[in-house]
Amino acid sequence: MEDFGIPEDEPFGDEADVFDLCDHCGRVLADEDVLGALVPDSSAFHATDPGLDGKRVLTACSVDHLAVLVEEYRQRPFVDEEQWAGKVCRALTDSDEPVPLSVVAELSGLSVRQAEQGVEWHNARAQEWRARYGDGDGDGE
Ligand SMILES: [Zn+2]
Repeated sequence: MEDFGIPEDEPFGDEADVFDLCDHCGRVLADEDVLGALVPDSSAFHATDPGLDGKRVLTACSVDHLAVLVEEYRQRPFVDEEQWAGKVCRALTDSDEPVPLSVVAELSGLSVRQAEQGVEWHNARAQEWRARYGDGDGDGE
């Protein structure tokens, strides 16, 4: 391979958005330098594949930085309710109408009880947010 760096004639070519950054120090990584690990993270949601929910891909520039990142995630509690809340939110993205909980559960692939707890978790977070930052949500209302 004679692939050293980016060709000068297209500095921001089609691949400009596929650069990986070290999640620890933010360094831009060349493909061959990328180290990755998959860690449990209850705030991670896959855009299309629910089977990959709750897992986050970490990228790092070195074994040391990868170890730091993995350790950080290992110490972060995995909150089931957060997972369920995220699944519920994703399931409801396209609906403008109120949806019965049983339908919410079906759409999000959860039991009714899980969907309910997810909604409660989400609402509790929203209340915390309002208590701390007021009613404004940044939309300029
Ligand atoms: Zn790094």
